[in-house]
Amino acid sequence: MSALAVAPAPCTVAAPLLTADLAAVAANVSTIAARTDAELMAVVKADGFGHGAADVARTALAHGATRLGVTGLGEALALRAAGVTAPVLSWLNPVDAPFGDAVAAKVDVTVPSREHLDAVLAGGAGARVHLHLDVGMARDGAPPADWAALCRAARLAEQRGLLRVVGVMGHLGCADHPADLCNATGRSRFAWGVETARAAGLRPPLRHLAATAATLTDRRTHHSMVRVGAGVVGIDPSRTVRLRPALTLTAPVVTVRRVRAGTQVGYGHGWTAPAATHLALLPLGYADGLPRAASGRAEVLVRGRRRPLVGMISMDQAVVDLGADPVPPGETVTVFGPGDDGEPTAADWAAWAGTIEHEIVTGIGTRVTRRSR
Ligand SMILES: *Cc1c(COP(=O)(O)O)cnc(C)c1O
Repeated sequence: MSALAVAPAPCTVAAPLLTADLAAVAANVSTIAARTDAELMAVVKADGFGHGAADVARTALAHGATRLGVTGLGEALALRAAGVTAPVLSWLNPVDAPFGDAVAAKVDVTVPSREHLDAVLAGGAGARVHLHLDVGMARDGAPPADWAALCRAARLAEQRGLLRVVGVMGHLGCADHPADLCNATGRSRFAWGVETARAAGLRPPLRHLAATAATLTDRRTHHSMVRVGAGVVGIDPSRTVRLRPALTLTAPVVTVRRVRAGTQVGYGHGWTAPAATHLALLPLGYADGLPRAASGRAEVLVRGRRRPLVGMISMDQAVVDLGADPVPPGETVTVFGPGDDGEPTAADWAAWAGTIEHEIVTGIGTRVTRRSR
């Protein structure tokens, strides 16, 4: 903070609050660890899927995870700055990323191309790299046509003592549908990739293909390590294992008003009260992560009862129809949670908005206060 910055007044009023339940994270990691003999990497990208990267990392490491995974180097260095010393892999970096900083911070990096290999070497000696093969998504990872040459070039650098190839990585594109044929293709392409690396003289101890869905549905994908993100925070894309959602979003009611039948609510006057009712205003909108696309379907929990949001969700605000049961301003409303008390879940919000839970939990805005328990 600069010396000229004015410290904000202490916040004494209840505000929108996002709470991460680390006991749920611990239970999920234990559940997943019991289902594999491979090493478990906890993926804590995107601030631990919105749950707090350092807190989720520490909890996962205490309950069976041995390594951490993130996307960009910035996320890896933030973990180091938070005092996390466990092995970390960073797998998505442009060629001008500060690879020298990765070596200094003992962060493993992936190499998906010859250009990346050169960039890592230019960052100085001593890097620990994982070669990344595209096994079918045509997204990240080296195309199979480039793989053998990439393995040979990496082996040459290894023989010169410039780096160590400690891993080979792939990522499946449709593991949430275990019966899909693309999983068999991905598995065999990965096996071929490991063989090709060995033929080039590489002996990578960490061979990893599976994320949450494959980890929970197909042991053949486990190899020597699995990378689990969604599962750690209670999301199972394969819908085969009961995990515990770990995030709860609450907000205080700002005002309550009584309105007559026919009252029109919100932008575009998108909803008309069919009868006299009470409306509560919530200080949360799409800038805070409530998807606008959920307008007209979403519900929240007020005093133990589901109540509909009415009218369009705005950038900063949303309106709840309380019917004949008003509550006082300041009453805490649950927007989503694990569902134990009847509150909507992130999965409900995802269904209302036509998206997946991942997008809901990672989309909560910076105005919302965060804490963990
Ligand atoms: C996000 C990610 C993971 C974790 O996936 P989940 O399905 O959330 O477990 C694993 N590997 C890569 C490359 C990823 O981007």
